[in-house]
Amino acid sequence: MFLRSLAEPLGAIKGIGPAMIPRLAKLGVRSVAGLLCHYPRDWEDRGVKHPITDFQRSQVCTEVTVIAHDWIGYGRMRTLKVHIEDESGKAVLLCFNRPWLEKQLVQGCRFRLWGRFYFKYGEIQSSAFEIEPVGENQAAGFGDILPVYPLSAGISQAMLRRVMSHALEKYAAGLEDELPAEITGRDKLLPKAAAIKAIHFPKNAAELEQAKKTLIYEELFYLEVMVGMRALERKKGAAPKPALALSKISFSPLQNRLLERLPFSLTSGQEEAVREINRDMAGAYPMARLLQGDVGSGKTLVSFLAALRAAEDGGQAAIMAPTELLARQHAENAARLLEPLGLHIAFLTGNIKAAGRKALVRALALGEIEIVVGTHALFSKDVAYKNLRLVVVDEQHRFGVTQRALIMAKGSDPHLLMMSATPIPRTLALTVFGDMDVSVIRGLPPGRKPVTTHLAKESNEKKVYDFVKRELAAGRQAYFVYPLIENGGELELKDAVSMAQRLAKKVFPQFSVALLHSKIDEEEKRGIMDNFRKGEIKILAATSVVEVGVDVANATCMVVEHAERFGLSALHQLRGRVGRGTDQSYCFLVYSDELTEDGKARLMVMLENSDGFVIAEEDLKLRGPGQIAGTEQSGYLALGIASPIQNAEELSRARADAFSILETDPGLLLPDHRVIARVLEQAPPFGAVVL
Ligand code: ADP
Ligand code: MG
Repeated sequence: MFLRSLAEPLGAIKGIGPAMIPRLAKLGVRSVAGLLCHYPRDWEDRGVKHPITDFQRSQVCTEVTVIAHDWIGYGRMRTLKVHIEDESGKAVLLCFNRPWLEKQLVQGCRFRLWGRFYFKYGEIQSSAFEIEPVGENQAAGFGDILPVYPLSAGISQAMLRRVMSHALEKYAAGLEDELPAEITGRDKLLPKAAAIKAIHFPKNAAELEQAKKTLIYEELFYLEVMVGMRALERKKGAAPKPALALSKISFSPLQNRLLERLPFSLTSGQEEAVREINRDMAGAYPMARLLQGDVGSGKTLVSFLAALRAAEDGGQAAIMAPTELLARQHAENAARLLEPLGLHIAFLTGNIKAAGRKALVRALALGEIEIVVGTHALFSKDVAYKNLRLVVVDEQHRFGVTQRALIMAKGSDPHLLMMSATPIPRTLALTVFGDMDVSVIRGLPPGRKPVTTHLAKESNEKKVYDFVKRELAAGRQAYFVYPLIENGGELELKDAVSMAQRLAKKVFPQFSVALLHSKIDEEEKRGIMDNFRKGEIKILAATSVVEVGVDVANATCMVVEHAERFGLSALHQLRGRVGRGTDQSYCFLVYSDELTEDGKARLMVMLENSDGFVIAEEDLKLRGPGQIAGTEQSGYLALGIASPIQNAEELSRARADAFSILETDPGLLLPDHRVIARVLEQAPPFGAVVL
């Protein structure tokens, strides 16, 4: 725990004047504690000598003699040039805006020098260097490992280093340990005070490593403490009491009636997921479950079964989808499958206005509708539920940052089921979604043939078109997907609008083509989808609006043009639009003739894999850490030094430690852990997560 004094204003630190305070604030540093937690982004090792001639391999760190001065340029542009040498060779210092160095760098004298050098005009030069007389007892830090901080305008490394060492001198001794002693002992971590000192000014590389290890673990530990507290909090909520004493194990009567009406039986993955949901919904606290299953694994049906359960318990279910297109499809399926069971289904989006909406909102408030399907309009201000028992969020990754709390507030502790075809990377599963339970549907319904994928260069697109033509002639349908709705003309890119015309007039004049993108009027969109489903339209030229959810079994061709412009998970989703019936389906990824090696590697992943989980992992590897959708915006993971990806192994351990201590001995946790104040301050309030 930090001493109270750590909350002191920055002005209490030597070297911080009124001008510096707002500049530090720009770095997020507002208190003494904040300053001590402003960790270096890197460290410069000045302990190891690197003579001038090493300049291409490393930064130079050496002792030099000044040989001569001269000046280049005229007037205000005049620049001092200082010739120097060490035992390895000669070099030149360009002293831009530092004319005073003429007096300091006396000819024939010895100096310690540190800087980056490059070769230019036949000389080894530097304009970014630090220099000090040999033997002088200054704090410039030669021979040490120096911190390199993130900076803001008006603050230099030297200033920040100076201020930091004053702050450490005054406050470091007062730092108390925040990690439980048994963990510090077990993992041989440093005491807090030593770790903070060493992270800024380590004595040697080994000490720096220990300091990093300590602070990284501490951050992840408290992050997981927070996640764990949320999980406990959720479990304190009282689940809505089931109206019927439904068994925890078997399916409910309504669920069984739906299953009897289906032409197929559930896959084992679906069945297991429904059982888990049933168990949750009969449990003591509200469900919060993430259902992951590859594209086409049949998550919708699972959510309908969950909705039946909610209705049977005397409650209402709201099923939310990211696009109107998908919401409508779900609503139609729900009506087809569930209305015959005597349930009332409604469809609600932002486009339903005036009288229709009023009646609908009223019916929801009166509880006359048991299951409502829609877009985020389901949770608009004017919508109230009589007894919202279950919230389903389909394709949760498409919702961006949303307040879970906002949705949950429409009911009293409703059950929550989030569904995703994009596997949640482990780090997110342990952090942002760390307080949820997870179900995974493995495998697809039987009888599906894997989609055959081809990569094609743009210059070979005619072959692709010919292939699609044969499929169309055999009565099948096709999607053509483009990265843009309309290309302003500046880019050499095919777009949906102009390609729809070209496909209709030139390429496939004998087949009906329709254009589909997000700007098209909803009524028209609906007409187009209906006609595509009925087979009256053979070809959809579209943007990624068809990416999520659209389900038309007779479509066997998916052509993605400029495929390199799509993310792997988007490509996987797009490919998942075909292969939904029993016919062999095809996916063509058409790429630019000038594709880079990286781009090629990405598309190869699509060619070699059909499992969405594997693709997501490969995608993560190729994109590298720090780019997981959702984490940047969430603020949740705004850690000071730990990276949940690079420190994945520590994250798991920290989670296990945090959860076990929360369960067995929460007294070990200090109530006031200020060092991770940054994490706590930035974390959204309980229940708010990336959806
Ligand atoms: P996703 O998991 O991608 O949301 P959907 O719910 O859209 O998948 O399901 C894809 C298709 O599979 C739908 O047409 C659905 O009717 C069908 N389906 C779902 N479950 C089964 C099953 N057990 N057997 C056969 N087909 C199924
Ligand atoms: Mg789906």
